[in-house]
Amino acid sequence: MPTYDYVCDACGVKYEKFQNMSADPDTECPECGGKVRRLIGSGAGLIFKGSGFYETDYKKAAAPACSSCPSSPTCPSSED
Ligand SMILES: [Zn+2]
Repeated sequence: MPTYDYVCDACGVKYEKFQNMSADPDTECPECGGKVRRLIGSGAGLIFKGSGFYETDYKKAAAPACSSCPSSPTCPSSED
């Protein structure tokens, strides 16, 4: 079941909701009762999370790979 992102035009609140693809989209803001829009391309959230994971993974992998001073505890490239 996909997650859809909604944004309220009235108060600007954003939220996610699990819905069947065949379900009617939300039209009413749970916060203020205003009109909400379902954001197109909600996969952007997943892409962002994936990219964050990649960055974290990359830093972990990069730390022990210092070729100039692999055993130094003060290696400047392991800080950061
Ligand atoms: Zn609202």
